[in-house]
Amino acid sequence: MILLDRVTKVYGKSPTPALDRISLHVEPKEFVIVVGQSGAGKSTLLKLLTREERQTSGKIIIGGIDYDKLKDKNIPLLRRKIGVVFQDFKLLPNRTVFENVAFALEIVGMSNHEIKHTVPKVLDIVNLKGKENSMPRELSGGERQRVAIARAIVRQPKILIADEPTGNLDPKHAWDVIAVLEKINRFGTTVLLTTHNQEIVNKLKRRVVTIQHGKIASDRAHASYKL
Ligand code: ADP
Repeated sequence: MILLDRVTKVYGKSPTPALDRISLHVEPKEFVIVVGQSGAGKSTLLKLLTREERQTSGKIIIGGIDYDKLKDKNIPLLRRKIGVVFQDFKLLPNRTVFENVAFALEIVGMSNHEIKHTVPKVLDIVNLKGKENSMPRELSGGERQRVAIARAIVRQPKILIADEPTGNLDPKHAWDVIAVLEKINRFGTTVLLTTHNQEIVNKLKRRVVTIQHGKIASDRAHASYKL
């Protein structure tokens, strides 16, 4: 599903690469947690996967798409394969919960009829039934993040990337968000999660990839994690 072969990323004229010959293979339906100290290269890794940044060298193949052969006009297709959730939610403040999720479908030309059918189903998955008409400001942080997850998965991507999705949340809301990520993974989506939260890593008991100074320092199944 995700294949990186000796991928290096150097920003500008920086003397040290942000990522240094990283090789990583993630199977379909896996749940992988990426950890590492600030500046280790986690965000760079995710930005290469979403094609927000280009690798300096090495090969990236995702869902059969070789990034070297990907034309700019096909980037929207790639974005449909990969849903992304950020620490700061990035919701549209003046739109309701329903509209925030519907927006992701409007921009790919889905009919109103289909949108009305699809959005409630996704809001149900993220446990936000009944919040359709709420505005983001009326929601808790955990609820906002679950709207962001609904928006990220509404086009049924094969991969969901969650970059510190619980970073702004208290423990109770963080666990609500993690439970939703686990549910989505059970439904068959590959999940890539970055977090600094040791308790979450230890309780999830999933594969943990540790990045240190731009390299993979360890890659373990069912790992626990100590800062
Ligand atoms: P993390 O997400 O693990 O905190 P990052 O991927 O953000 O790490 O950063 C890895 C390294 O790349 C750091 O040294 C950081 O300063 C550098 N870096 C990140 N983004 C940029 C950028 N846009 N321009 C230059 N250097 C960057």
